[in-house]
Amino acid sequence: MSRVARATIRLDALHHNLGVARQQIPDANVMAVLKADAYGHGLLPVAHELAAATDGYAVSCLEEALPLRLAGLMHRIILLEGFFDADEIPVFSARRLDAVIHQPWQIEALAEADIPAPIDCWLKVDTGMGRLGFSPDEAADALARLKSLPAVGTIRWMTHLASADEPDNPLTGVQTERFGAMVDGAHEASLPNSAATLRGLEPYGDWIRPGIMLYGASPFEDTSVHPPLQPVMTLEAALVSVKWLPAGHGVGYGGRFACPEAMPVGVISIGYGDGYPRHAPDGTPVLIAGQRCPLIGRVSMDMVMVDLRNVPQARVGDRAILWGSNPRATAVATACGTISYELFCRLTPRVERVYR
Ligand code: PLP
Repeated sequence: MSRVARATIRLDALHHNLGVARQQIPDANVMAVLKADAYGHGLLPVAHELAAATDGYAVSCLEEALPLRLAGLMHRIILLEGFFDADEIPVFSARRLDAVIHQPWQIEALAEADIPAPIDCWLKVDTGMGRLGFSPDEAADALARLKSLPAVGTIRWMTHLASADEPDNPLTGVQTERFGAMVDGAHEASLPNSAATLRGLEPYGDWIRPGIMLYGASPFEDTSVHPPLQPVMTLEAALVSVKWLPAGHGVGYGGRFACPEAMPVGVISIGYGDGYPRHAPDGTPVLIAGQRCPLIGRVSMDMVMVDLRNVPQARVGDRAILWGSNPRATAVATACGTISYELFCRLTPRVERVYR
């Protein structure tokens, strides 16, 4: 038995999920979103695995882009926030990285740049997200200015949807309409994230940007609205203690949970030091021997406790599944008042990653 909390990454599931993206929006180029260490799944293993299946990668910063180039991956790589400082511009040029342009200072920095090769740019328009991008009114001027610069290569349009995971939210229609009017049939554009891809929304351009769906988690509460995805990560740890506690006995720090009757309580070797959410409430699902064993008591740094009344036969050394096919990360996230994205990203290096 080992204490190690382990995340097993099923590489074949990545291919299945990428296949779903291609099936939902045929003929689009896929920019696999690999930021934040491929949503906690491991930047380089995921990038290598998808190398022959994807048309490009999207990351957040140079620290994520350069390892891909150093690993010999020569795909298009888009940095979703562009360069953070003018000093980075020569690196974009030397390493053939695409920059998202969302602020006037970035355009002026490109105007000043003396670089050997022009940089392909994605002009980001804020069609309603209220985050990065030029307003639709500013976009034409920004485009004209970018077009006039020798440091700029191909220019593509891009926008990001705020609420595509809420099928009834009218903002998605407003955003897609604004973007559609702006790109006006131009192929060189990108709009859909996972939610828009899974809904099969009109892509308004030739690139889609699926992130969470590649990892097999749905952005939707109701997953019946799209084809099934296969979870890529299974997070598991071992039962390190099994014992009976009497009725009324508290469990863990602060005694948040009090045993309603004499009952078996298990301790699993994973905690917030591994990235398991400390705010997970009583009842958060955990699976042992195929049975749901609800989490009880406060999450500690190295341990969580579970109610073993559904599996009185459980023994020290048994495997506990924190998320995977069952329970799904989305169900755990919902119980914890967060999203699967955060659960994946917050896993710490102490969790061993095993690739299958
Ligand atoms: N595009 C941009 C600009 C993003 O910021 C993200 C993720 O946050 C994505 C695409 C991928 O989104 P998702 O993981 O929901 O598919």
